[in-house]
Parts: sequence; C-alpha cells; structure tokens
Amino acid sequence: MNQRGVSAESLLREKGLRVTAQRRMVLQYLLDHEGSHFTADQVRDALLPLLPELAKGTMYKTLQDLTAVNIVELLPTPQGYALYGLRLKPHQHFYCVACHGWFDVQPNNVEALTFDAPGFVIETVDVTLRGLCPACAKQNTLSTAARAEHKAF
Ligand SMILES: [Zn+2]
Ligand SMILES: [Zn+2]
Repeated sequence: MNQRGVSAESLLREKGLRVTAQRRMVLQYLLDHEGSHFTADQVRDALLPLLPELAKGTMYKTLQDLTAVNIVELLPTPQGYALYGLRLKPHQHFYCVACHGWFDVQPNNVEALTFDAPGFVIETVDVTLRGLCPACAKQNTLSTAARAEHKAF
C-alpha cells in the first residue's frame, strides 16, 4: 500500500493481469516512487535483494505488460534509453536539459490543443516541456551572478 491506498495487487487484478511476484513488486516499487522515472536496470537493481532470481528479460517483459495496460508509462529519452514511471493519473513531462531529470507536470489547457488537418483522430496528447528544473535554474542564476560579479572586478 502507498499513501494513496492503492495496492499493486488490486491494480493488477483491476487491469486483468495475473498477479505474479514480479509484477506485484515492480508495480509496488513504482507506486512507492510516484513521480519518479527509472530505467529497467534501475528498477531491477532496486528489487534484486528482494527478488534475486529477477532476470533482465523478465524485468523488461514485466514492464511491457504493465505499460500495455496503461498503468506504467514509457518515456523515450534524448539519450536513447527508456524510462518507466507510474501512469495512474494523466500528466505531461518536464525535461531538465541540465540534470536530465524528468518531472511529472500538469500544464494547463493541454486537452484543448487542436490542429487543422482533416482526417486525424487524436487519442492521447503527450507534451514534453524542456528547460531547467527549479534546482538547476537556481544554480544557473547563481553562476550567472557569480560570472557577472567576477567581471565587475
Ligand atoms: Zn535540473
Ligand atoms: Zn511521468
């Protein structure tokens, strides 16, 4: 159970997936870290002490199963690796170009996006905003200020 009172087991049942130890533990890990995004290897490394027999292939298959029923999302990154995160509530992403962090965000009016091209049917809208996260933006301001100060002398 996490703070939202959702158990991995009930979610799997709700989505019609057979409850296996792998699925339950992978989903529980993502539930416990809602808002964070991980590579398959990161999830596997975290779960290895609990599930020593968790093979790489099983890990990918488990994440695929969870992605297929839309409780987990797959983010393709500019670096070429895939990140997985929880997708229980609709959200978009903010990508920090400095620390490469991914943040779940809720931009306004995303559902109002339209475009003029006949024949297309929109099913989902995935928006990625890029820029600096609060921590990196702060550092950036600090280093700009430091540079300015340096120049002054
Ligand atoms: Zn950042
Ligand atoms: Zn996300």
